Amino acid sequence: MRFLLPCLLMIACLLAPAAAHANGGITDLKIIQTGPQTTRIVLDATQGSPYRAFVLNNPMRIVIDMPLMSWQAPMNKGDRAGRIKSYRQSVFQGDTRRVVFDLNSPMIITTHQRMPPQQGRAWQYQFDLQTASAVNFQQAINRVMIGGGAPETATKSTGSVQPLQAPGTPAFQRPAGIPAIETSPVLIASTKKEKPLIVLDAGHGGVDVGAIASNGAYEKNITLAVAKRVRDALLATGRYRVHLTRDRDIFIKLPGRVKIARDLSANMFISMHADTIMRPTVQGASVYTLSETASDAETAKLAERENAVDTLVNVDVGDVDADVADILLDLVTRDTMNQSKVLAQTVVNTFGRTGVRMLPQRPHRSAGFAVLKAPDIPSVLIEMGYLSNRNEANLLTTPAHQQKIANSVVAVVDQFFANNN
Ligand code: ZN
Repeated sequence: MRFLLPCLLMIACLLAPAAAHANGGITDLKIIQTGPQTTRIVLDATQGSPYRAFVLNNPMRIVIDMPLMSWQAPMNKGDRAGRIKSYRQSVFQGDTRRVVFDLNSPMIITTHQRMPPQQGRAWQYQFDLQTASAVNFQQAINRVMIGGGAPETATKSTGSVQPLQAPGTPAFQRPAGIPAIETSPVLIASTKKEKPLIVLDAGHGGVDVGAIASNGAYEKNITLAVAKRVRDALLATGRYRVHLTRDRDIFIKLPGRVKIARDLSANMFISMHADTIMRPTVQGASVYTLSETASDAETAKLAERENAVDTLVNVDVGDVDADVADILLDLVTRDTMNQSKVLAQTVVNTFGRTGVRMLPQRPHRSAGFAVLKAPDIPSVLIEMGYLSNRNEANLLTTPAHQQKIANSVVAVVDQFFANNN
């Protein structure tokens, strides 16, 4: 008995590194002062792997995630310039090696790259940091930088289209067949004070007509008509910039819609829909936010239907945007999720006041909607009413009611920014 415990420990110790070695090992970590304002973090590893990096606040820190590799690097304490207090590493969610750098002062990641081994050396991962103002640091929070492409050990592409990965699958793997991107564009946090940019997403479009009303109306046409009215009404206030994910009858995949908002650094994302429901007597608008588990079975089904629209069209693998396809639920931060919930609650409060009927029970619900997965933009999906209800189908095709919805959305946006500035 006395020997059993040490024996078990020894077996565990022998097994653990073997399992971790499937992805290789991180063999060195250096923090180099490259200038008075700049610092470089260099990680050496035995394998070329995908990675992601981002900054977080409270406390200020920089996080680098890689697939689970064994840790063979020394644990130093901080850097000589005193910008990085210390660093630590851990296993995150069972499949990720996470390295966290605690900062003494705000720094942002300006560039990052992975370099293949040269002359027998290891793979190298470089992250260049720059001291930043508090404002610039705040703006950089939760912007996730992804690089490295598919793991070198990844199996070859089957040529199939890869959907958005389900929550819980290993992070930052690119869909099969997507070429690795070794470098990334420089991230410069904007210091300009611009009007907030609202991205309006008219649901469905092109071959994807969405729901069909008993009066023959297509959801895709209603969403576009209302989105244009919202755009015009928002622009008329002079307080916002507005972009539509589509302003005509075309098909855009859900990740493509998210990408449009992210590329433009949107401040808000609103997806407009008008779907059907099994019970034709049900009427009222409702609003949805992203969550890992659905708030109820009906919403789970709705999200499933909405997420399935991408399978309507065959898309080349090369057309799948790797950056967006890689965005996983765990990257959507608590802060963004909280802001989205506040936005949804603002919809519920405002629509009641402006005379757009809401669902009587729990008008705010949540599920894993793919179109709401921008990690850094408050996002909601508004079901403006049900096309399965005769009364609402008629209302939704009436210009006066469409305008009423548009004005209500403007009131929501006004309220949200009034509370958040
Ligand atoms: Zn829809």
